[in-house]
Amino acid sequence: MGDPKITKVDLVVFEHKIENMGTDYNGFNQVYEEDSVLTTRPSILRIHTDVGVTGEYLAGPRERTAHALDAVGRYLIGKNPLEREKAYNDLKRGLRHTDRTAIGMVDVALWDFAGKLYETPIYRLLGGYKKSLPAYASTYHGDENGGLSTPEAFADFAEQCYSVGYRAFKIHGWGDAPIEREIANVHAVGRRVGDKMDLMLDPACEYETWAEALKVGRACDDESFFWLEDPYKDGGVSIFGHRKLREMIQTPILQTEHVFGLEAHVDFIVNGGTDFVRTGVYEDGGITGAMKVAHAAEGFGLDVEFHGGGLAHRHCISAVRNTNYYELGLLNPKIKNSKPPIYPAEFLDELESIDEKGHVAVPQGPGLGVEIDWEYINSHHIETISTEVS
Ligand SMILES: [Mg+2]
Repeated sequence: MGDPKITKVDLVVFEHKIENMGTDYNGFNQVYEEDSVLTTRPSILRIHTDVGVTGEYLAGPRERTAHALDAVGRYLIGKNPLEREKAYNDLKRGLRHTDRTAIGMVDVALWDFAGKLYETPIYRLLGGYKKSLPAYASTYHGDENGGLSTPEAFADFAEQCYSVGYRAFKIHGWGDAPIEREIANVHAVGRRVGDKMDLMLDPACEYETWAEALKVGRACDDESFFWLEDPYKDGGVSIFGHRKLREMIQTPILQTEHVFGLEAHVDFIVNGGTDFVRTGVYEDGGITGAMKVAHAAEGFGLDVEFHGGGLAHRHCISAVRNTNYYELGLLNPKIKNSKPPIYPAEFLDELESIDEKGHVAVPQGPGLGVEIDWEYINSHHIETISTEVS
């Protein structure tokens, strides 16, 4: 067999409506809102080849992916789909003036291609060995609409998650809220389930000041939280600010979700900006880039935690020793079916998508390992955007 070639790249965009979903104070955080319907446009990236095997990846909303396809479509045509390291390095250089997130969706689709070509799941190609992964329940942001609106509601939901099987729970707090309520939330959830669940707090950079991060961090100390993540409005990128925070609280902090790529991660680690390392296929250049970060963390003797769910992360985590949890979310007790239903239920990352031990399964089919429901996608199809050989 000669070298395979990429012949066409396209993006299949479809519609998915989420019931009881709105947004909070500035339109960015998705939150519970009764009777509101949020219309989203997820998309599947497809990389077609001259060997009759197509790499496919549920790559995210059209707002992100159409722009990314624009940036990389022409580059991919005629390239060897097995040369992922070359694509990673070429695109890293080629996209240096813009954002480099396009690398992620291309790389995951290329891994899917390789797995299908070799008829084996991606985790096998990575040397993976874990078949199921412990998951934490990761909440939607707090709302003001009767969903997750009070510390009491968060504590109730943590208990509900425990009864479903989860042994870890991560709070995304409120946007633009008084810091006293964030502190009360840490104590309410900590007192209710802290003796039986690992607890994490992710303000997602909502706090206005470093001092607020410190106050909440001290509350996390009182309740023995597992980690505190991206607390304040430096945007998650200040090495100096987080090193200072680490000196003043006991709770491990988790940074680098918003620091993109291998080299910036290593700089962050070596300068003392974080305890846990964060990576993800979207931010860090696909499975190829995220595994580089995971191995860099391993070299520093640190654990790496993958940002968000998805099939690609299940394969990665299967092959990484130095990691603790799969992020399953986002969840709210009053929101159902927030993920497009294109996979069997156990792969959808809804509240009940875990087994009795609180674990998720690593897919066993070729490539990403789960068949996509094309009938559903075709019946909700909006458009297909293509890059072809001209
Ligand atoms: Mg986060």
